[in-house]
Amino acid sequence: MGRIDKGVNCSVVGCSEKAIRSISSEDASQAKLNIGDAKRAYLCKTHYKELKKHLRKDRRLQKWRWNQ
Ligand SMILES: [Zn+2]
Repeated sequence: MGRIDKGVNCSVVGCSEKAIRSISSEDASQAKLNIGDAKRAYLCKTHYKELKKHLRKDRRLQKWRWNQ
């Protein structure tokens, strides 16, 4: 996870921005990002932000459940 080669584009379908991060396909599907059937996803700045937003939300939801 983390650093990627230069010149890789974002894996999200319909996006052609330059990727800054690579993530696992599980993380991508958890954040509901459409990466087709890629095993590894490369994300641009925008989609990485979106991913973090989704994952944070999920975590908060889990915590809330555990506290009940
Ligand atoms: Zn993107």
